[in-house]
Amino acid sequence: MRNLFSEPSGTRFFFKAFLPILATTLLVAALTALLLYWIARSADEVAIDRQHRLVEMVLSRLQTRIAHDQESVTVWDDAVQSVRSPGNGEWIDSNLGSWMASYFGHDGAYVLDVQNTPIYAFSDGETLPVSAFEVLASEALPLVNRLRERLRSGDTEGINDRILSLGVSGLTKVAGHPAVVSAKPIISDTGDIEQKPGEEYVHVAVRYLDGNFVEELQQDYLVSELRFSWREDTTNGEVAIPVPSGTGFFIWQPYRPGATVLAQSAPVLLACLAGAVIVLALFVRALRTRSIRLKLSEEALIHLAHHDLLTGLPNRRQVEIELDRSLKGLGDDEQFAVLYLDLDRFKEVNDTLGHPSGDELLREFADRLRRHTSESDMVARLGGDEFLILLRNPMSDEDVSELCRQLVETARRPFLISGARVFLGVSVGVAMAPRDSLSRVELTRRADVALYHAKRSGRSAFAFFDFKMDTDQALRRELERDLRTALERGNQMKVHYQPIFSAQHSKLVGAEALVRWSHPEKGMLRPDAFIPLAEENGMIEQLGEWVLKEACQTAVAWPLETLAVNVSALQLQNPGFATRVASILLETGMHPDRLELEVTESTLSDRRQECENNLITLRAMGIKIALDDFGTGFSSLGRLQEMVVDKIKIDRSFVNGFGTENGDEAIVQAIVDLARTSGLKTTAEGVETQFQRDYLNSIGCDELQGYLLAAPLAPDEFQLLWQTETRKHA
Ligand code: C2E
Ligand code: CA
Ligand code: CA
Repeated sequence: MRNLFSEPSGTRFFFKAFLPILATTLLVAALTALLLYWIARSADEVAIDRQHRLVEMVLSRLQTRIAHDQESVTVWDDAVQSVRSPGNGEWIDSNLGSWMASYFGHDGAYVLDVQNTPIYAFSDGETLPVSAFEVLASEALPLVNRLRERLRSGDTEGINDRILSLGVSGLTKVAGHPAVVSAKPIISDTGDIEQKPGEEYVHVAVRYLDGNFVEELQQDYLVSELRFSWREDTTNGEVAIPVPSGTGFFIWQPYRPGATVLAQSAPVLLACLAGAVIVLALFVRALRTRSIRLKLSEEALIHLAHHDLLTGLPNRRQVEIELDRSLKGLGDDEQFAVLYLDLDRFKEVNDTLGHPSGDELLREFADRLRRHTSESDMVARLGGDEFLILLRNPMSDEDVSELCRQLVETARRPFLISGARVFLGVSVGVAMAPRDSLSRVELTRRADVALYHAKRSGRSAFAFFDFKMDTDQALRRELERDLRTALERGNQMKVHYQPIFSAQHSKLVGAEALVRWSHPEKGMLRPDAFIPLAEENGMIEQLGEWVLKEACQTAVAWPLETLAVNVSALQLQNPGFATRVASILLETGMHPDRLELEVTESTLSDRRQECENNLITLRAMGIKIALDDFGTGFSSLGRLQEMVVDKIKIDRSFVNGFGTENGDEAIVQAIVDLARTSGLKTTAEGVETQFQRDYLNSIGCDELQGYLLAAPLAPDEFQLLWQTETRKHA
């Protein structure tokens, strides 16, 4: 398990979430503890107060109680008689002395006669000589005298059903003990024995406060650790209560119910607190795990939104963000390059090998791009087979060119895809910031424009943006619009016909249909100015079909062996092309034997099934196929035999090269020889001089075409020429 607070975000989490929750919990716990403590203390205070009052009450009642004890023997006829009659010592002892000690716990008992002379003394569990009274005489006699006075004065205050006789008592010190001394007259209970008030015998009882009284108090009232002390020397939470009239203190350890409950419940409370903290920690951990997971999925989402799934490269959105950032942070003498890349022939690979192979190829290409760039650069996939590289801080244009060369080179190396070696290429367009633009949109657009030019200049190339390109593109867009209108209206397009002659007899044998565009503003436009455009935007099929139909319609009546019509490679890729040609022938009445379709080498090397099928069908119909511009493409002379054509048109660049050091005569001779052995006819294009004509004738070239013989002509011009020619040969 990951440590919760290990990484920086963990620390942040600790301070932002965990600490406040923990602090709150501890605060609540502290407040609760304080409250409990306060409750316990209040409870203790109440309890202690009650104990105080209890001890006070017991003390205050003690005197009454002792007096009451005494009454059980002093209000009694037998007692009056016994004390007055000498020789009754034993009776006195057992009833007024030891009995009082054993039954009531009195510590001392004395009997005084009328003159206050002691006749009996008992103390600390034994009968003593009467002189023992001396010890308390000074304390007891004033009480006795007061009693006699009250008796004499007939004072009856306090006498009722429960208190049968007068009494005087006091708290004092006897033989070093704090003690209650109580004096009671010995009187008749029946009233039968008359005594003169004040002349009664008096019973003096002594009860020590520090003796068994303390034990009694402890047992009866549950006052623990009670002791008597002359000084208020409390320790350890003890409490003290003064004995009235300054005779020392009772000290005890008070019962504290609050503290007891608190002490008993403290472990439980602590356990609860610990539990709460644990639960809290678990909760916080769950929260944290959740927040980590949330953050991770959030990051994953953000990554997804900014990256291409297939290659893992940043996507268009990320490119926009990065470009904006780079443009914003561009320093005074800094620059960066935007490279727009597009794979050549990728669509073919995708179509022939299938999409999984296409995906594999894109991944491999992405890897190659990454290997050629550094960490600080950004390689992104914009979609399809389009990539973009943001090259940060290139030193010069030459650096960028060098990288472009490497990229083009790396793309030319074969890709090993599902066991097959696939050859591709890449075209690169470059725009530099700030030189080309400081706006993201404009910068990428210019890189795209440069890419377009790189592609047009032949594939596997790169180009830097140039302002001229922009004008070119604007013009092209305009032209594209015009072309569309022209094709819709159908009246701006014309077909011219260039005569083709037999080399041997200079006889007009055929014509090549060449399209012209009579542009309302730009005048007559040659096909090179608009055919590539039509091929790029898919208008070529419509245009090609129109030319074919127009040419057939026009030339059907002309006494020509062949009518040659140019066909674009794209037209042949359409599976329905052969059928369209057949229906045009039917419509116009042109015989298939008289039609010749001129195709280029790239058309023939196209391995696509549709293309091959079209060519086979067309030839089966009797239509001838001529290989146009022979020698400019890639195919070698050696492949000539494999090609399914009837005629070869030798490109005019060779004818042009006659008489130069290139040795083009030899090449043309070889082509003608090879064609003848393969049973193919040859036509030489671009014949402009008599020398060229003679040479071509001498090596056995079958047909000639060129300005020397005739330029491409409008239909009426062509008809004139044809009439003169017929007359010439007639
Ligand atoms: P191409 O098939 O090689 O056509 C012959 C081109 O050579 C024509 O140019 C013609 O005017 C030119 N030419 C003829 N004799 C001479 C000569 O003695 N010297 C020189 N220097 N040039 C000569 P054009 O009409 O501009 O056509 C250019 C290309 O446009 C054609 O080249 C052909 O590939 C294409 N094209 C023309 N019409 C069509 C069409 O209807 N469909 C398609 N797909 N392509 C067409
Ligand atoms: Ca041609
Ligand atoms: Ca040609």
